[in-house]
Amino acid sequence: MPPKKLPKAPAKTRRRARVTRAVFVCGLCEEPETTTELVNGLCADCRAECLADSEDGAPHVVPGVVPDTFLAVPRRQAPAPVVDVTRYVDEIRRASGYAPKERG
Ligand SMILES: [Zn+2]
Repeated sequence: MPPKKLPKAPAKTRRRARVTRAVFVCGLCEEPETTTELVNGLCADCRAECLADSEDGAPHVVPGVVPDTFLAVPRRQAPAPVVDVTRYVDEIRRASGYAPKERG
């Protein structure tokens, strides 16, 4: 059975809405920029709350800093040091009271 044709769209459609201006709001409390100053997308109250939120004094959220999970590419890290695994295992065996393994 061939598919049925869809009914025609109405001839006259309404004009689409047009954006003429935009207002930024605080990222946490949605306070508009017209009533408060926004720094890095946050108002002063929310920034103070973020900085005072942690127990150890280090802020959970640092305005302007992108967390690692939001990065497209991981941050560059120093390469891990090269470890001689055989020597490391022998050190652990000696420290535990075992003789190093016979190899060869
Ligand atoms: Zn806010």
